[in-house]
Amino acid sequence: MSDSNVFVASPEAKAQAKKYRMYAILLWAAALILQAITIIKLISDDTLIMMLVAIVAILAIAFFGGRFWKKSNKLDPASEKNPIKFLLQNQLGAIMGVMCFLPMVISIFTSNSISGKTKAIAGTAASVAMTAAGISGAEFDSASIEKYSKEIEEQNKAAQQLNINSGNVFWSKAGNKYHAFDDCQYIKGKAISKGSIKESWEQKGISELCKVCAKKASKSAVTDKAKDLMEAVN
Ligand SMILES: [Zn+2]
Repeated sequence: MSDSNVFVASPEAKAQAKKYRMYAILLWAAALILQAITIIKLISDDTLIMMLVAIVAILAIAFFGGRFWKKSNKLDPASEKNPIKFLLQNQLGAIMGVMCFLPMVISIFTSNSISGKTKAIAGTAASVAMTAAGISGAEFDSASIEKYSKEIEEQNKAAQQLNINSGNVFWSKAGNKYHAFDDCQYIKGKAISKGSIKESWEQKGISELCKVCAKKASKSAVTDKAKDLMEAVN
């Protein structure tokens, strides 16, 4: 693959990804602090209701942290060339989701100051929350520079077959599509950017051809072929 086909996240996409990573880190920090308070204060006080409230709150905060982290990786993915960094970057959401609960789970089950009933209920709740946070933070469809580069290449080829100029497509900031026609109903009246298919990926992360534009392009591609045939016959 030549260098010109390698995905490079745009400066705007990188900046946005950085912002999302900051949000994720702040949320995880808040969840870890809340967990520490729960361990230090609530478990020793044997206050079951407060512990359950804290568990739900931590789960919610960890969930949003994981969401932001995943979003950042879609905009500015890691390279598969460094497998350890690649794995860590993509699965940090799962790791942090577990870390937001594991110390608490251990503390609950090893505590001498809480009743058996509190131990069973809070311990189960914290274990379930840990599993949920881990799974929701896990990335099952990791984006990578290599994967994006390959997809861009394939989409360029597909566009050529539809007579779409892969260097001149349109997209709006929201959504994960690019359009072959600037009068497409989905981008009409919106602020649109213009550039190559590759550039749409580099600014948005995932970017695919809009279905309406694909239909329109395939119709005119067929018409063009028919015209060519007619000319050949005549
Ligand atoms: Zn369209």
